[in-house]
Amino acid sequence: MSLQYDFHTHTRYSDGTLSPAQLVRAAAGAGVRALAITDHDVTDALAEAAPIAKDCGLQLVPGVEISATWSNKTIHVLGLGIDPAHSALQAGLARLRELRDARAEDMGARLAKHGIANALAGARALAAGPIISRTHFAHFLVKAGHVRELRQAFKQFLAKGKPGYVSQAWAGIDEAVSWIRAAGGRAVIAHPGRYDLGTTALGRLFEDFRAAGGEGIEVISGSHSRDDYHRFAHFAREFGFLASAGSDYHGPENVWLHLGQLPDFPSPCKPVWHDWNL
Ligand code: AMP
Ligand code: MN
Ligand code: MN
Ligand code: MN
Repeated sequence: MSLQYDFHTHTRYSDGTLSPAQLVRAAAGAGVRALAITDHDVTDALAEAAPIAKDCGLQLVPGVEISATWSNKTIHVLGLGIDPAHSALQAGLARLRELRDARAEDMGARLAKHGIANALAGARALAAGPIISRTHFAHFLVKAGHVRELRQAFKQFLAKGKPGYVSQAWAGIDEAVSWIRAAGGRAVIAHPGRYDLGTTALGRLFEDFRAAGGEGIEVISGSHSRDDYHRFAHFAREFGFLASAGSDYHGPENVWLHLGQLPDFPSPCKPVWHDWNL
């Protein structure tokens, strides 16, 4: 059985390829009844998506995916059900976008030293919204013929330890959670299976996150394996976390992540949407 919900998706305002209207229509067409748009460090898509969602009879959950740093690792914290107009949240996101701009300058300089010219300008030209991400650099590297496809751009240039990588301290997880809670939202750790953390370290992350007021973790994610589904369903119960589900959809060219085809939880979990009126 598949879920009719998807609580993790991206538009062109961050590093996805669809406009908010295209994303909402694609989701509705794929049978999604409730959708969260969770762009990285920006909420500009939400106002544009709202009337389209209404038209399609789809319930829009206002969201964001905040870049955070914990123990020298980048951790993504989803805020679901936020009020995007909240000033503390917007001030925090604006600061993260400034850090992104500064990092992009460094990335461009490092890539130039590595013989790749004009990467910053190229990546900027591909950014439709107010954030610049590694994905924009990756699209530039493909377009300029340095690599054949996006994955290769990360593998060769943009992943940790590669020539274009710049390590960056983002928000603390306590800060990310506090902005989300101030804005009336629920804080959820995105794709916990992707951080390359062992069971002990994950346990510490989850303890710290819960102490900060975090309420949930993604159990079902486009970047989780079947084993991860089971593992994180178990973690959710152990830590008393709500369980979320999201594709992390970035657009139709990322063929391995589909809208509207998320499996149900593999074992009993308390859904993050348990008290939403869906
Ligand atoms: P940033 O937040 O700017 O550091 O960029 C991170 C984004 O890059 C993630 O949200 C993903 O969308 C994308 N990303 C990270 N690793 C990969 C990869 N190996 N292949 C494709 N996209 C990736
Ligand atoms: Mn992304
Ligand atoms: Mn993420
Ligand atoms: Mn994401």
